[in-house]
Amino acid sequence: MITQIRGLHHVTSMAASASTNNKFFTDTLGLRRVKKTVNFDAPDVYHLYYGDEVGTPGSVMTYFPFPHIAQGRPGTGEVGTTVFSVPEGSLGYWTDRLTKAGADGLKADEAFGEKRLHFAGPDGDGFALVEVRDDNRAPWIGNGVGAEEAIRGFHSASMRLRDEGSTAELLKFMGYEQVDARDGVTRFGIPGGNGADFIDVETMPNISSARLGAGSVHHIAFAVENRAKQLEVRKALMDTGYQVTPVIDRDYFWAIYFRTPGGVLFEIATNEPGFDRDEDTAHLGEALKLPTQHEHLRKALEEHLEPIA
Ligand code: ZN
Repeated sequence: MITQIRGLHHVTSMAASASTNNKFFTDTLGLRRVKKTVNFDAPDVYHLYYGDEVGTPGSVMTYFPFPHIAQGRPGTGEVGTTVFSVPEGSLGYWTDRLTKAGADGLKADEAFGEKRLHFAGPDGDGFALVEVRDDNRAPWIGNGVGAEEAIRGFHSASMRLRDEGSTAELLKFMGYEQVDARDGVTRFGIPGGNGADFIDVETMPNISSARLGAGSVHHIAFAVENRAKQLEVRKALMDTGYQVTPVIDRDYFWAIYFRTPGGVLFEIATNEPGFDRDEDTAHLGEALKLPTQHEHLRKALEEHLEPIA
């Protein structure tokens, strides 16, 4: 069994409009844009990162905005809901704020004894806020949401699967423990996690596969402390029969990827070196940062990419 994983690192999704996406995550949700860069494999597309002050692993929501992308079709084999942690008693504030912002899909419910508010992102992305007592992660309060309400980071992500069996085995191999099961959803938690500690698995045997598009989660990444621990995880996964990519330098972390039995793409990402490796903390996310191999495209990209605030 692997003991190196510390919870979620980031969640990466697809969007249609960069400016709409940027406005929603900074103005409405109050997160900080911690990096404005481009997709390594498609440098004419942004890669936008939102999180807490420094983009602490476990707080980072990232997007690839493709201007003409088709809408995704929800289904199985994907992450259904990405859930942020907010303080107890703050959901009334968030209901007002999201209503005023025109967010769709507002619905309050309770799961595993926690109060939750569902809402949709700009492309129909499935999100929820959940009230958590004593989440001591420091919030970003620079975008108009106060400390009594601001998002602390991720709480969990839920996966919709036709059959949970092999994915449950994988999560246990990754160090997760089953902590609860109710209403067709099994909750797994990671001991000693970074706060973004839970994965919910929802079994939907009769639902067809999702089609990736705007509003879909592309992959979820799990955090490990450093490159040495990442290599240990990679070896353990490969020894168990998973096809894992080589280690890839993503400038702000190191990444490996593998496809899980239920169809969801998993990444293991390092906490090092972090988003302040090429910008001061005070100015994170302001300048367009380009991977070294795409720096020669800067002039063309600055003309081509949609301006965002
Ligand atoms: Zn990633």
